[in-house]
This record gives sequence, structure tokens and C-alpha cells, in this order.
Amino acid sequence: MKELGKDVRVLVIGAGAMGSGIAQIAARAGHTVYLYDGRAEAIVSGRAAIDKDLRFLVGKGRLAEAEAAATLARVLPVTTLGEARDAGLAIEAIVEDMEVKRQLFRELEALLGEQAIFASNTSSLSITAMAAGLARPGRLAGLHFFNPAPRMALVEVISGLSTERAVAECLHATARAWGKTPVHAASTPGFIVNRVARPYYAEALRVLAEHEAEPATLDAILREGCGFAMGPFELIDMIGHDVNFAVTKSVFEAYFCDRRYAPSQFQQELVAAGRLGRKTGRGIYEYG
Ligand code: NAD
Repeated sequence: MKELGKDVRVLVIGAGAMGSGIAQIAARAGHTVYLYDGRAEAIVSGRAAIDKDLRFLVGKGRLAEAEAAATLARVLPVTTLGEARDAGLAIEAIVEDMEVKRQLFRELEALLGEQAIFASNTSSLSITAMAAGLARPGRLAGLHFFNPAPRMALVEVISGLSTERAVAECLHATARAWGKTPVHAASTPGFIVNRVARPYYAEALRVLAEHEAEPATLDAILREGCGFAMGPFELIDMIGHDVNFAVTKSVFEAYFCDRRYAPSQFQQELVAAGRLGRKTGRGIYEYG
């Protein structure tokens, strides 16, 4: 199956940490990208984040100045979804909430053409359930990037029960054309990575709640002693405790409350306190 042509316009909904990264990837691959967010200020900050990262790459000599400028110019901010009617691929990276995502896809389906492909960057929610109730459920698949999206190679292409094989194959080929390493996954809770990674976060949070080790000690052990790229607390602070907690809850519930996936009370408290990690300046650690 062939990847999407560069002439296909891509709509990214949600201009936060993931959406801005995904928009950057698609724009660098040559697509015109519409960037939309429910909050106008998020579109501005999302585009600024893309600009900052492109400048960083230019500074490191990994990207030509002209290519950086052309990439940014391909990211078009839109303040209504109607402005992106001619998009052939819509990727959502909004809040991790099934009902909100379903509502968005219903809206997109009414706007975009019959052949449009819909993709969700959900970390854990059922693609089968997300597609149920759509007029064209076969056109929806998961396209799960990892954080930070422009740097992380892996992309999970998730098929729900209704996903057309051609849609999954096209997304797989497209992710590869975008320089990623795609893998096919089924619509099981947390898919592959977020299922296997749950205990990494959960056990570390338990160690912390039980005062067995300081966060920096545990992070250093996992990073330097075991070869992980990041310790669990550094990683959750980067992901965001709100996002990480929502994913854990959704995987726990989807596995019929299997205790192995139980969310952390301590993390629930962090979320309640607004200590969401890097994005709020404080999570497990404080950021200046
Ligand atoms: P984020 O909070 O940084 O950004 C989400 C953006 O979506 C916000 O700017 C918000 O204003 C916007 N938004 C929310 N609801 C909206 C709606 N109904 N319509 C339009 N815009 C809306 O979140 P994020 O970390 O980028 O996560 C987004 C999605 O990606 C979630 O589904 C999350 O589970 C998934 N994800 C996150 C990570 C991660 O490490 N943060 C990794 C992989 C996947």
C-alpha cells in the first residue's frame, strides 16, 4: 500500500505537546498542515514550539535554514475546522477523553471528504469504541506517536475491529515515509507500549509513596544503572501527570480493574494540586 501523497493536506487537531510535534513531522515531510485547537492561544504557542524546535535543529546544523522556514510556512493555523475541509488526513491529539474524541470525529466526518482518513493519537483508548457510531468507522485508526514526537522513532498504527485494512496500511506506509518506525497493533487497552510501560511508572510511584527512595536516586538508578533513556519520574514529568494518570485509569478500567494496573493515589493528588510536571513548572521535580 502506498503512503499518502505530499499533496494531501493534513489537519492536526490539538496543538499541545503532541499535536504540535505531529504537525511539525507532517510539515517537514512536505504536507501542508492545518493546525487547530479549541483554545486560540494554544495554536499560537503550538506553532511557536515548532519554530523553536526547527531553530534548534538549524543551530545544530541538522536542518538547513531554508528548509526550516519552508516547514514552518506549511503549518497553517486555522480557527475553525471548516477551514480545513480539503484535508485528506485528520489526526487528533486532544484531551484523552473518549466522548470528546468521538464528538470530534462525528464533526470531522461531516466536514471532510468521503476518502479522508481519521487518526487518533490516543495513548490507550479503544479505537473500536471511538469508531462506533461513525458513518464510516472503517476510515478511523490509531496513529500513536511518542513524546517528543519529532524525536521518537516509534509509531503504533492501531486497528480497531472496523478499521479498513487499506487505511491501516496507508498510515503505516505514511509513517514510514515520514521517517518513523511504524508497527501494527490491535485495539487492546494501552496497545503495546503503554500496556508494557504501566508497571514502570506504577511501581516507581509506589516506591515513592512508601518513602523507599528519593525520586532523583531512583531515576539515576534506572538511567545510569539499567540503561533506560530516562528515569520514570523524569519521564512522567515530561509526559504530564494529567495525561499519564488518565492513561493509567483507562488501562485499569479496560482490564476490568486488574490490580496490576491500579493507578497511584499519590499521582491523583499531584493532578489535583495542578502539579502536572514540566508544563506547569512543577511535578515530581521543580522547573525554573
Ligand atoms: P496537551 O494537554 O499538551 O494538549 C492537548 C490540546 O488539545 C490542548 O491545547 C487543548 O486546548 C486541546 N483540546 C482539548 N480538547 C479539545 C477539543 N475538543 N477540540 C480542540 N482542541 C482541544 O496534551 P498532549 O500531551 O498533547 O496529549 C494529547 C493526546 O495525545 C492525548 O490523547 C494523549 O493521551 C496523547 N498522547 C500524549 C503523550 C504525552 O506524552 N503527552 C504521548 C502520546 C500520546
